[in-house]
Amino acid sequence: MAGVIYDHVTKQFGDVKAVNDLTLDIKDKEFLVLVGPSGCGKTTALRLLAGLEEITAGDIRIADRVVNDVAPKDRDIAMVFQSYALYPHMSVYDNMAFGLRLRKTPKSEIDRRVKEAADILGIGALLTRKPKQLSGGQRQRVALGRAIVREPKVFLMDEPLSNLDAKLRVQTRAEISKLHQRLETTFIYVTHDQTEAMTMGTRIAVMKDGILQQLDTPQRLYDFPANIFVAGFIGSPAMNFFDGAVTGSRDDLSLDAGAFKLSVPANRRERLAGYAGKTVVFGVRPEDVHDRDYVPGAITGAAIPAQVDVMEPMGSEIYLYLLSGKQSFVARVDPRSQARPGKSVEVMLNLDHLHVFDKATEQAIF
Ligand code: ATP
Repeated sequence: MAGVIYDHVTKQFGDVKAVNDLTLDIKDKEFLVLVGPSGCGKTTALRLLAGLEEITAGDIRIADRVVNDVAPKDRDIAMVFQSYALYPHMSVYDNMAFGLRLRKTPKSEIDRRVKEAADILGIGALLTRKPKQLSGGQRQRVALGRAIVREPKVFLMDEPLSNLDAKLRVQTRAEISKLHQRLETTFIYVTHDQTEAMTMGTRIAVMKDGILQQLDTPQRLYDFPANIFVAGFIGSPAMNFFDGAVTGSRDDLSLDAGAFKLSVPANRRERLAGYAGKTVVFGVRPEDVHDRDYVPGAITGAAIPAQVDVMEPMGSEIYLYLLSGKQSFVARVDPRSQARPGKSVEVMLNLDHLHVFDKATEQAIF
């Protein structure tokens, strides 16, 4: 068991800084998810930790030991890849035992560890099969089993669920979370999928263009995104963004989006006062846009007339794709809503959950 520290780590490939001055303190036993769009550097960050790439600048520490020059096999980590990377000619048992045999682990110890891991993963009945006789989900479990038997200090996982179908992905997601609870070991997990990040991570590191954007718990990332990128990346459907001119006086500030105008809640005016006369970007999550006829009692909001472009009934709720002037936005409304494509509807924004960003720096103002 061990914590992991990235201390101003940079990895450069030619002109590209795949990882740019990454500083990250991952606690012992934490489930840390590295998330971001394709090319943001998350896989490179993991490969640096595994010792599969050389660091250009900075230090990586595992359990307080700098590992920059430590060979991958001596880092006390185990990595699970998207491709499983099982040996096709070996049985499940031998695939799991292989690494331990290389290390000259006693036979009885290998047997104990393989059987225990197989038991944890529910693959005890598959030990004599070859990988090609297994389903994708079962192969992924064998890959996990091979990592578990090594009893590493840190588990690294790179998109381990991406080859599974949607249902199996959800199921395996929960199993990996359970595995983390059971093993009480540090997990570092790479994905581009914000849902995986939100559901599995104790903390999430959001990356873009090699740069760490925000490191926080899932709920804090959702409630207090540090910038426009994080706000738009976390949450599905994504947050709606509008340009708004800050108008009015200190005790009566408004955000003028052209097609509609919002009154800034009293407790937020102070932070926006310096932006009077300027344009900011404000964000509203789809669940904070309600059909006015079904507004929950406690909401203090602003009503906006809109046209319904597309309607997607989800059963428990309806997604409405709306237009107000030229601005399009999404609402998650009550399933009883009578809104229909082509018709007008009045929606209400919950102003207590408004996010506002500096248009130039894209950083959150609140
Ligand atoms: P994906 O989800 O698509 O795998 P990622 O976020 O994991 O993306 P990386 O694979 O870490 O991103 O790549 C980050 C950047 O570094 C990309 O611009 C990529 O093209 C570049 N890169 C990665 N590996 C190499 C390499 N071996 N040589 C040159 N450039 C590389």
